[in-house]
Amino acid sequence: MSAMLEVKDLVVSYGKIKAVKGISFDVEQGSVVSLIGTNGAGKTTTLRTISGLLRPTSGSITFEGKDITKVAAHDIVSLGLAHSPEGRRIFPQLTVRENLMLGAFSRKDKDFDGDLAEIYELFPILEERNNQPAGTFSGGEQQMLAMGRAMMSRPKLLMLDEPSMGLSPLMMKRIMSTVSTLQQRGTTILLVEQNAQAALKRATHGYVLEVGKIVLEGSGSELLASDDVRKAYLGED
Ligand code: ATP
Repeated sequence: MSAMLEVKDLVVSYGKIKAVKGISFDVEQGSVVSLIGTNGAGKTTTLRTISGLLRPTSGSITFEGKDITKVAAHDIVSLGLAHSPEGRRIFPQLTVRENLMLGAFSRKDKDFDGDLAEIYELFPILEERNNQPAGTFSGGEQQMLAMGRAMMSRPKLLMLDEPSMGLSPLMMKRIMSTVSTLQQRGTTILLVEQNAQAALKRATHGYVLEVGKIVLEGSGSELLASDDVRKAYLGED
């Protein structure tokens, strides 16, 4: 059986600069796949291309057997692929609830109560602050909101771009444990992180990206044990 998401020979350029230089990887249904790498490795570019926000120079992206390489971003959301972007991109003047509802724009049904209840159960602070503008929130709260907004589209595959960025160790733990909870509840996750330790600990499979190329892949535990990963990403000698 083929993987839920198949990325093949993907090349993405900004003008003459190639940011992603021919990468291939798969995300199996039910898994957590982590894409790790330092600043500028091409992680965000890869996610934005899968979401339809950028167009590749060449290569293909297949989701549940359908070629989505040229599908419009809003139609990709409707197919069940949601993206929680780097930097969270929440709307500061809008309330928590209004931000969450933006995530449901692609849905034809209007039965949102169950989804909101699930998000509030995962992140009780969002329910407490339901009617407050999101601009006053801490980084961790904004991350919860960004994840909640992505969940409102009922994704089969949720892509998270650096959810741990700028968070305290405690908040990071909280966010990462939610990733595991979502996986247990049936959502497949593609996780992009600079924090290799946190991302690989939970990964079914991981890929290491360096200047636009995949240089290493393996199970989360294999990569965590690898000397190359330990030296380059975990600061060990
Ligand atoms: P970060 O953790 O900093 O987000 P990343 O691994 O996500 O890093 P990308 O943001 O995908 O990396 O960047 C990959 C390369 O593409 C970098 O060299 C970056 O400078 C370049 N790049 C990214 N966005 C643009 C843009 N809008 N215009 C030109 N070059 C860009």
